[in-house]
Amino acid sequence: MKPKKLNLRHLWMQFEDVLAPRLGLTVFDRAVYSHLLRHSLVVGKLRLQFSVMSVAAKLGLSNGPVRQAVRRLDELGALRLLERSKTGHLVEMRLPQNIRAIRPHKNGASMAVATDAVDPAGEPPASILETTDFLKTWALRKAIHDRQRGACFYCLRRTPANVKCLDHVVPRARFGRNSYRNLVSCCIECNTHKGDHPAPDFLRTLYRQGRLTPAELDARLRALKDLAAGKLRPALPENGK
Ligand SMILES: [Zn+2]
Repeated sequence: MKPKKLNLRHLWMQFEDVLAPRLGLTVFDRAVYSHLLRHSLVVGKLRLQFSVMSVAAKLGLSNGPVRQAVRRLDELGALRLLERSKTGHLVEMRLPQNIRAIRPHKNGASMAVATDAVDPAGEPPASILETTDFLKTWALRKAIHDRQRGACFYCLRRTPANVKCLDHVVPRARFGRNSYRNLVSCCIECNTHKGDHPAPDFLRTLYRQGRLTPAELDARLRALKDLAAGKLRPALPENGK
Protein backbone atom coordinates (compact mmCIF):
# COMPACT_ATOMS: atom_id res chain seq x y z
CA MET A 1 0.00 0.00 0.00
CA LYS A 2 1.47 3.32 -1.04
CA PRO A 3 0.65 6.20 1.27
CA LYS A 4 -1.39 9.02 -0.22
CA LYS A 5 0.16 12.43 -0.59
CA LEU A 6 -0.07 14.12 2.76
CA ASN A 7 -1.60 17.41 3.64
CA LEU A 8 1.17 18.43 5.98
CA ARG A 9 -0.59 21.46 7.40
CA HIS A 10 -3.55 19.30 8.35
CA LEU A 11 -1.26 16.61 9.71
CA TRP A 12 0.61 19.02 11.93
CA MET A 13 -2.58 20.47 13.33
CA GLN A 14 -4.03 17.01 13.96
CA PHE A 15 -0.86 15.95 15.71
CA GLU A 16 -0.72 18.96 18.02
CA ASP A 17 -4.43 19.54 18.58
CA VAL A 18 -5.92 16.06 18.59
CA LEU A 19 -3.46 13.19 18.75
CA ALA A 20 -1.09 14.38 21.46
CA PRO A 21 -3.73 15.63 23.93
CA ARG A 22 -6.23 12.83 23.25
CA LEU A 23 -3.69 10.06 23.76
CA GLY A 24 -1.98 11.91 26.60
CA LEU A 25 1.40 11.75 24.88
CA THR A 26 4.46 12.76 26.86
CA VAL A 27 7.13 15.00 25.34
CA PHE A 28 9.16 11.85 24.65
CA ASP A 29 6.23 10.18 22.87
CA ARG A 30 5.70 13.32 20.81
CA ALA A 31 9.35 13.63 19.87
CA VAL A 32 9.61 9.97 18.88
CA TYR A 33 6.32 9.90 16.94
CA SER A 34 7.17 13.05 15.04
CA HIS A 35 10.71 11.87 14.28
CA LEU A 36 9.52 8.47 13.03
CA LEU A 37 6.74 10.03 10.97
CA ARG A 38 9.23 12.43 9.39
CA HIS A 39 11.29 9.49 8.14
CA SER A 40 8.37 7.32 7.02
CA LEU A 41 4.98 8.60 5.87
CA VAL A 42 6.18 12.16 5.33
CA VAL A 43 8.64 10.87 2.73
CA GLY A 44 6.18 8.35 1.29
CA LYS A 45 7.28 5.24 3.21
CA LEU A 46 4.79 3.21 5.17
CA ARG A 47 7.37 1.25 7.13
CA LEU A 48 10.52 2.25 8.86
CA GLN A 49 13.45 0.33 10.26
CA PHE A 50 15.46 2.00 12.98
CA SER A 51 17.49 1.34 16.07
CA VAL A 52 16.49 2.87 19.38
CA MET A 53 20.07 3.99 19.87
CA SER A 54 20.22 6.01 16.65
CA VAL A 55 16.85 7.66 17.28
CA ALA A 56 17.89 8.47 20.85
CA ALA A 57 21.16 10.00 19.59
CA LYS A 58 19.32 12.16 17.05
CA LEU A 59 16.78 13.36 19.62
CA GLY A 60 19.39 13.95 22.30
CA LEU A 61 17.71 11.45 24.62
CA SER A 62 18.89 8.31 26.33
CA ASN A 63 17.75 4.92 25.04
CA GLY A 64 15.29 4.11 27.85
CA PRO A 65 12.75 6.88 27.22
CA VAL A 66 12.88 6.26 23.46
CA ARG A 67 12.29 2.53 23.90
CA GLN A 68 9.39 3.25 26.26
CA ALA A 69 7.92 5.78 23.84
CA VAL A 70 8.01 3.25 20.99
CA ARG A 71 6.27 0.68 23.17
CA ARG A 72 3.66 3.19 24.29
CA LEU A 73 2.99 4.43 20.77
CA ASP A 74 2.52 0.81 19.71
CA GLU A 75 0.07 0.21 22.52
CA LEU A 76 -1.85 3.35 21.70
CA GLY A 77 -2.05 2.32 18.06
CA ALA A 78 0.01 5.26 16.79
CA LEU A 79 2.35 2.79 15.18
CA ARG A 80 2.47 -0.94 14.75
CA LEU A 81 5.60 -2.73 15.89
CA LEU A 82 6.21 -5.44 13.30
CA GLU A 83 9.58 -6.73 14.36
CA ARG A 84 11.86 -6.17 17.27
CA SER A 85 15.37 -7.50 17.53
CA LYS A 86 18.79 -6.57 18.84
CA THR A 87 19.59 -4.77 15.59
CA GLY A 88 16.45 -2.72 15.38
CA HIS A 89 12.74 -2.15 15.22
CA LEU A 90 10.55 -2.38 12.16
CA VAL A 91 7.42 -0.30 12.48
CA GLU A 92 4.46 0.71 10.39
CA MET A 93 3.45 4.28 11.13
CA ARG A 94 -0.12 5.50 11.43
CA LEU A 95 -1.38 8.97 10.68
CA PRO A 96 -3.50 10.61 13.37
CA GLN A 97 -6.67 10.08 11.32
CA ASN A 98 -5.98 6.34 11.16
CA ILE A 99 -5.45 5.82 14.87
CA ARG A 100 -8.46 4.00 16.17
CA ALA A 101 -8.40 5.46 19.65
CA ILE A 102 -8.96 8.97 18.33
CA ARG A 103 -10.90 8.28 15.15
CA PRO A 104 -14.44 9.62 15.40
CA HIS A 105 -17.19 7.02 15.11
CA LYS A 106 -20.08 7.44 12.71
CA ASN A 107 -22.36 8.59 15.50
CA GLY A 108 -19.85 11.24 16.52
CA ALA A 109 -18.66 9.50 19.68
CA SER A 110 -14.92 9.79 19.82
CA MET A 111 -14.29 6.19 20.73
CA ALA A 112 -16.16 3.08 21.70
CA VAL A 113 -15.55 1.97 25.23
CA ALA A 114 -15.00 -1.74 25.29
CA THR A 115 -16.68 -3.26 28.26
CA ASP A 116 -16.69 -6.96 27.43
CA ALA A 117 -13.30 -7.89 28.79
CA VAL A 118 -12.76 -5.41 31.54
CA ASP A 119 -15.94 -5.52 33.55
CA PRO A 120 -14.94 -5.01 37.14
CA ALA A 121 -18.30 -6.16 38.55
CA GLY A 122 -18.07 -8.16 41.70
CA GLU A 123 -14.56 -7.02 42.59
CA PRO A 124 -13.70 -4.53 45.29
CA PRO A 125 -13.36 -1.36 43.18
CA ALA A 126 -10.40 0.14 44.93
CA SER A 127 -8.31 -2.94 45.57
CA ILE A 128 -4.68 -2.49 44.63
CA LEU A 129 -4.79 -5.24 42.06
CA GLU A 130 -7.74 -3.71 40.28
CA THR A 131 -6.31 -0.24 40.00
CA THR A 132 -2.76 -1.22 39.16
CA ASP A 133 -1.40 -0.14 35.79
CA PHE A 134 0.58 -3.21 34.80
CA LEU A 135 2.57 -1.39 32.14
CA LYS A 136 3.91 1.06 34.64
CA THR A 137 7.06 -0.69 35.74
CA TRP A 138 9.31 -3.47 34.58
CA ALA A 139 8.39 -5.57 37.65
CA LEU A 140 4.65 -5.23 36.94
CA ARG A 141 5.11 -6.17 33.28
CA LYS A 142 7.16 -9.13 34.43
CA ALA A 143 4.30 -10.18 36.72
CA ILE A 144 2.04 -10.49 33.67
CA HIS A 145 4.70 -12.46 31.78
CA ASP A 146 5.26 -14.72 34.79
CA ARG A 147 1.56 -15.55 35.02
CA GLN A 148 1.92 -17.22 31.60
CA ARG A 149 4.96 -19.22 32.67
CA GLY A 150 6.79 -18.64 29.41
CA ALA A 151 4.02 -19.69 27.01
CA CYS A 152 2.14 -17.47 24.57
CA PHE A 153 -1.38 -16.82 25.87
CA TYR A 154 -2.83 -17.40 22.40
CA CYS A 155 -0.82 -20.05 20.55
CA LEU A 156 0.77 -21.69 23.63
CA ARG A 157 4.23 -21.78 22.08
CA ARG A 158 7.23 -21.13 24.28
CA THR A 159 8.14 -17.46 24.34
CA PRO A 160 11.84 -16.74 24.85
CA ALA A 161 12.62 -13.17 25.94
CA ASN A 162 13.29 -11.89 22.42
CA VAL A 163 9.86 -12.84 21.04
CA LYS A 164 7.79 -12.10 24.12
CA CYS A 165 5.56 -9.07 24.42
CA LEU A 166 2.44 -7.86 26.19
CA ASP A 167 -0.84 -7.70 24.33
CA HIS A 168 -3.99 -5.79 25.14
CA VAL A 169 -6.81 -8.30 24.77
CA VAL A 170 -9.21 -5.44 24.07
CA PRO A 171 -6.83 -3.24 22.11
CA ARG A 172 -8.42 0.15 22.58
CA ALA A 173 -10.25 -0.29 25.87
CA ARG A 174 -10.24 3.09 27.52
CA PHE A 175 -10.86 1.85 31.03
CA GLY A 176 -8.75 -0.85 32.51
CA ARG A 177 -6.55 -1.05 29.42
CA ASN A 178 -3.48 -1.85 31.43
CA SER A 179 -5.30 -4.01 33.93
CA TYR A 180 -4.20 -7.58 34.64
CA ARG A 181 -7.61 -8.46 33.15
CA ASN A 182 -6.71 -6.96 29.80
CA LEU A 183 -3.00 -7.73 29.45
CA VAL A 184 -1.50 -11.05 28.44
CA SER A 185 1.98 -12.25 27.61
CA CYS A 186 2.26 -13.54 24.07
CA CYS A 187 4.65 -14.03 21.16
CA ILE A 188 5.30 -11.12 18.80
CA GLU A 189 3.81 -13.10 15.93
CA CYS A 190 0.44 -13.48 17.68
CA ASN A 191 0.58 -9.86 18.79
CA THR A 192 1.08 -8.77 15.18
CA HIS A 193 -1.50 -11.08 13.63
CA LYS A 194 -4.16 -10.44 16.22
CA GLY A 195 -3.99 -6.71 15.62
CA ASP A 196 -7.35 -5.17 16.37
CA HIS A 197 -9.32 -8.39 15.93
CA PRO A 198 -11.37 -9.62 18.87
CA ALA A 199 -9.39 -12.20 20.83
CA PRO A 200 -11.94 -15.06 20.43
CA ASP A 201 -11.89 -14.60 16.64
CA PHE A 202 -8.12 -14.67 16.63
CA LEU A 203 -8.10 -17.90 18.68
CA ARG A 204 -10.50 -19.48 16.19
CA THR A 205 -8.16 -18.45 13.38
CA LEU A 206 -5.28 -20.21 15.13
CA TYR A 207 -7.49 -23.28 15.44
CA ARG A 208 -8.39 -23.19 11.74
CA GLN A 209 -4.70 -22.94 10.91
CA GLY A 210 -4.14 -26.09 12.93
CA ARG A 211 -2.08 -24.32 15.54
CA LEU A 212 -4.50 -25.14 18.36
CA THR A 213 -6.26 -28.45 18.90
CA PRO A 214 -10.01 -28.39 19.60
CA ALA A 215 -9.30 -28.96 23.30
CA GLU A 216 -6.72 -26.20 23.34
CA LEU A 217 -9.14 -23.82 21.64
CA ASP A 218 -11.78 -24.55 24.28
CA ALA A 219 -9.25 -24.02 27.04
CA ARG A 220 -8.03 -20.73 25.52
CA LEU A 221 -11.59 -19.42 25.16
CA ARG A 222 -12.21 -20.34 28.79
CA ALA A 223 -8.96 -18.63 29.79
CA LEU A 224 -10.16 -15.47 28.05
CA LYS A 225 -13.35 -15.52 30.11
CA ASP A 226 -11.41 -16.19 33.29
CA LEU A 227 -9.06 -13.34 32.47
CA ALA A 228 -11.92 -10.87 32.04
CA ALA A 229 -13.57 -12.18 35.19
CA GLY A 230 -10.42 -11.44 37.18
CA LYS A 231 -9.68 -15.09 37.91
CA LEU A 232 -6.17 -15.03 36.45
CA ARG A 233 -4.40 -12.96 39.03
CA PRO A 234 -0.73 -12.21 38.66
CA ALA A 235 1.46 -12.17 41.74
CA LEU A 236 2.11 -8.54 42.60
CA PRO A 237 5.77 -7.66 43.10
CA GLU A 238 6.78 -7.44 46.77
CA ASN A 239 6.53 -3.67 47.12
CA GLY A 240 3.55 -3.46 44.76
CA LYS A 241 5.61 -1.62 42.12
ZN1 LIG B 1 1.68 -16.86 20.00
